[in-house]
Amino acid sequence: MNVDLTGQRALVTGASRGIGRAIATALMDSGARVAAHYRGERAGAEALVRGRDGSVALAADLSDRRAAAELFARAVDVLGGVDLLVNNAGVALESPLDQSTDEWLRAWETTMAVNLTASGILARDAVRHFASRGGGRIVFVASRAAFRGDTPEYLAYAASKGGMVALSRSIARGCGKQGVKSFVIAPGFTRTEMAEDFIARYGEDYAMKDVALDRMTEPRDIAPLVVFLASGLADHCTGTSIDVNAASYVR
Ligand code: NAP
Repeated sequence: MNVDLTGQRALVTGASRGIGRAIATALMDSGARVAAHYRGERAGAEALVRGRDGSVALAADLSDRRAAAELFARAVDVLGGVDLLVNNAGVALESPLDQSTDEWLRAWETTMAVNLTASGILARDAVRHFASRGGGRIVFVASRAAFRGDTPEYLAYAASKGGMVALSRSIARGCGKQGVKSFVIAPGFTRTEMAEDFIARYGEDYAMKDVALDRMTEPRDIAPLVVFLASGLADHCTGTSIDVNAASYVR
């Protein structure tokens, strides 16, 4: 099976590194044009799209709701439309229960703003755009934490990812007749900068202890799924959540 995404236009958030970068690369390798979103890693995002005809790097701090609202419009403008939104950008802020209420709330609000509110704003804009143009697809990069739960230090993270799952399911059920398809990918521990802090602190063995395979999941283990979902070959899976966690959590 060869997947050819020529003619498709995708907005991938958090494409400057990690999972988003692998997803944007795989989409471009399959022929799609990509708006590769970044926050601070401008050099990484620009290097990613260099030499890729029609793909661009777009900046936005998604903790700022106005910037999130502007991002989709800019992607539509530069790509001439969007067929696929990949809501991937995210933060995992450690926030122990014994922090002061102000500190704890700050981490909660930033987590919700980036992971859930921005995803919701972008998804709403995408649904409206897709509905007026015969359809489109959304992929939410959530987390195993949405289903399994997380540790007490990451309550906001798990809750934000659970919100993304509910968002995706609601869009799939409510907007399918307008041609909108929505999917969740739920990674487990994946080797990226986000995971490195954890590995540095607790060690690789600890990170690997639940993993059934012989190596940790890497971004390249996730990206091909997005290409497949973008292809339209899996549209009747709309509403589904696909686990990519090397059987560390089987549900
Ligand atoms: P990562 O390497 O830390 O990359 C995070 C990406 O999000 C970067 O592109 C970053 O942009 C962007 N970002 C962070 N804060 C932002 C903000 N305020 N506004 C806009 N963009 C922002 O993370 P990753 O591991 O690839 O994670 C990607 C997604 O997978 C996240 O949603 C994460 O929750 C999810 N996930 C990861 C794991 C894991 O173990 N790695 C497991 C489950 C789920 P800049 O680089 O430009 O700052």
